[in-house]
Amino acid sequence: MATDQRVRVRFAPSPTGALHIGGVRTALYNFLFARKMGGDFILRIEDTDQTRKIEGAEQYIRESLEWLGLSLDEGPEQGGPYGPYRQSERKDLYGKFAQLLLDEGYAYIAFDTEEDLAQIRQEYESRKQTFKYDATVRHRLQNSLNLSAQEVQNRIDAGMPFVIRMLVPEDEEVGFEDVVRERVTFDTNELDDKVILKADGMPTYHLANVVDDYHMKISHVIRGEEWISSTAHHVLLYQMLGWEDHIPQFVHLPLILKPGGGGKLSKRDGVKMNIPVYPLQWTDPETQTTLEGFREAGYLPGATINFLALLGWSPGDDREIFNMEELIDAFQLSQIIKSGARFDIDKAQWFNQQYLIHSDTNELIAYIQEYFPELYGLGDRSYMEKIIPLYTERVHLIPEIADQSSYFFNEWPDYDVNQVKKRYKPENEDLYRGLFEKLSGVVPFHQTALKAAVEEFIQDNQTKYGVVLPILRLAIAGVLHGPDLFVMMEVMGQSLVHKRLERALELFPTYI
Ligand code: GLU
Repeated sequence: MATDQRVRVRFAPSPTGALHIGGVRTALYNFLFARKMGGDFILRIEDTDQTRKIEGAEQYIRESLEWLGLSLDEGPEQGGPYGPYRQSERKDLYGKFAQLLLDEGYAYIAFDTEEDLAQIRQEYESRKQTFKYDATVRHRLQNSLNLSAQEVQNRIDAGMPFVIRMLVPEDEEVGFEDVVRERVTFDTNELDDKVILKADGMPTYHLANVVDDYHMKISHVIRGEEWISSTAHHVLLYQMLGWEDHIPQFVHLPLILKPGGGGKLSKRDGVKMNIPVYPLQWTDPETQTTLEGFREAGYLPGATINFLALLGWSPGDDREIFNMEELIDAFQLSQIIKSGARFDIDKAQWFNQQYLIHSDTNELIAYIQEYFPELYGLGDRSYMEKIIPLYTERVHLIPEIADQSSYFFNEWPDYDVNQVKKRYKPENEDLYRGLFEKLSGVVPFHQTALKAAVEEFIQDNQTKYGVVLPILRLAIAGVLHGPDLFVMMEVMGQSLVHKRLERALELFPTYI
């Protein structure tokens, strides 16, 4: 890469289903680096494999990026000087370069059908060997290296399907510098002659990826480490196309591992452990099963970003909470971690709690109303403004706020009958009644006055907090846990509190 080159990075997903959370992290690191360097962040949709293309997947990718605030400089929707940004719309370009490689002897035409190759593969397997279309076999297969020019032409004229394969040189070393992995080298004898143009005229990932990175002036290729071995083929393609001075800087990101370590995090882990592995909810078009994403599980976008940023990158000190601007400021490619990063969902929840606690109440309410309208259908805004901050420290995920505060919205609380049985003492009935009557009449109905009234009652009646307060809380909320009782009473207001106290006096004795 030339040193004066503008930083241009791309996120290049294939629209074959939901975006895995690892893909989101790749997008994030690309975004952070682009913003940090004042460069460009590009979305390129790699949809050349028409058989794997899934309806709605591109839209899903865009919506995910938008939810997370990863704004694009160029992409299929925003356009840009190097478009189009969907590979399916750039077909002619790839064909041209496949032809060029053919003309220059860096590629060849192969007629072997899928069935031919499947059969050879099977033969190899029966001998416990793996078949690779490479220098050891290419001379005895159906390709333009072995067939006469006339025969090749005849077959083409007869409409026989063919692919174009790259001719990988023998006995060479191909290598590249990777920011994370440092020097990576491959022996070309290990590499197969990858198909670069398929029978339908569409390029494969390898050709399209290299042609586009070159044409879109991509300076850094930041992607998951599963693409490392493809990079060897890519470097060869750059050399064959005469673009060796334009090879981008490669940055291969470590794997995201299962919560318990041991292997790559998969969609199945999400199902098995009931944890989100997608940014947004996704319904599999084949099975019609729906998996909820981070958004539906109740994670805020900022918390999701913060969690993902630290999954494979370290700021070099012990800071953990970073908003987007701070991340952009602190982000360094050189601090990407080499080893796999464990997907610690408890940590994700901790981040979310921190973000809930420090959210601006109005913004949080607006967010909840937008994404969880069903949770707060009952409350008006000023009521919610008072309730939500009472719970942010007590929950990790947004839906838990609704669960825990349901007694503010429902007519009656869900009484924890076991606790009522344990705490309610018939011999104290007069005490409860006395306290409840006193509280119902407190004016103004404010937390300090309510608290003072309880203190006074306890003194006057020579009783203890432990005798009356649990019953008061059970009467108000139905459960023994929750925010400050007097704050809750003030927020509920005098008439609702009065109604609940009256009801408890009637109901609780019947539980005993
Ligand atoms: N289309 C590839 C993917 O689905 C892109 C890999 C790359 O960034 O080169 O991840």
